[in-house]
Amino acid sequence: MTSRTERTLRVGNTTVTLHTSDRTTLDANIDANGNIIVRGPGDTTDDEAGDVVGRRRAWLYRRLAKITDSTPTNPIKKLVDGETFVVRGRPATLQLTDETDTKAVLDGAILKLPRIAATKPHKAQQDLINLYSSITQTWLKENLGQIGQLIAEPDLPAHVSTRFRTNWITRHPTRGLTIHWALGQLPSLQLRELIHRTLDLHTIADPHQLDANLRNLWLGNTALPTPPHSAPCPDCAAPINTFHAEACDIARCARTGYQRDSCHSDCNSIWTGRLPGEAECEEYGFYCRPIPNGYEPCNADDPRAGHDFNRLHRDCNWDIAAQRMTLRI
Ligand SMILES: [Zn+2]
Ligand SMILES: [Zn+2]
Repeated sequence: MTSRTERTLRVGNTTVTLHTSDRTTLDANIDANGNIIVRGPGDTTDDEAGDVVGRRRAWLYRRLAKITDSTPTNPIKKLVDGETFVVRGRPATLQLTDETDTKAVLDGAILKLPRIAATKPHKAQQDLINLYSSITQTWLKENLGQIGQLIAEPDLPAHVSTRFRTNWITRHPTRGLTIHWALGQLPSLQLRELIHRTLDLHTIADPHQLDANLRNLWLGNTALPTPPHSAPCPDCAAPINTFHAEACDIARCARTGYQRDSCHSDCNSIWTGRLPGEAECEEYGFYCRPIPNGYEPCNADDPRAGHDFNRLHRDCNWDIAAQRMTLRI
């Protein structure tokens, strides 16, 4: 008799999922969403699971860096009026309200969130995730019966997971489908396609478009609005919203977007109150952290995460009109 269990544990700063079964060996791997998965025998202890992660650390980090490069860029949403969220494929504009006792609600194309909740990123994040979860649940109620009929299981159970990092969809023999809350952002047809894919049914929407959309879903990272900066440029002391001094090391070239160290022409740029590129890195989710021989891509909330300016220049072009880096399409 196979007995399978699943539990999560912390190894250092990382959450690891331990699957036990009747296998005899212990191994660690990374799934497509960047989760560290340890598989081992039924009596595997947390310490044993932690040890195998420790032993394979270098390899896991390399895999993780690769995945971070190719999977969701995990854009961060700012909790400010006018921020755009996507609900069922359509844009919804965040509006902070003065209500004190309500949760996030979707009102047409307006996503209302109490201002008071928006002052606490983790609470707001949970609130928004719950909203997406209930939107996805409603969708399932309306659509799953019909899909279930295609596999002769009209009562196929399904529930929405509010965990951050989990698979998009998993199918369990008795519990049915577990669906990631973030899928409430997909257009209806694509969510249906993803479920069809999971159930081995025929294709009904462009699979490449679906994969592209999955890479761009918001996965819950929120940030408080950056407080207005008023400090002068730390190098040349230019006041905010004025030109840097001619020889400033921080100034970037208005023509190329690179550091303006060897320019001798009229390409001076303005001190915005932030280091060049920081705002763009935050918008696109480009972060990295130091490792013994360099840097590796990471998530915004990882310890020691910093802005990944190299990636910014690798993946973006300098937009002269906007005076900022824009993603290369
Ligand atoms: Zn300056
Ligand atoms: Zn220049």
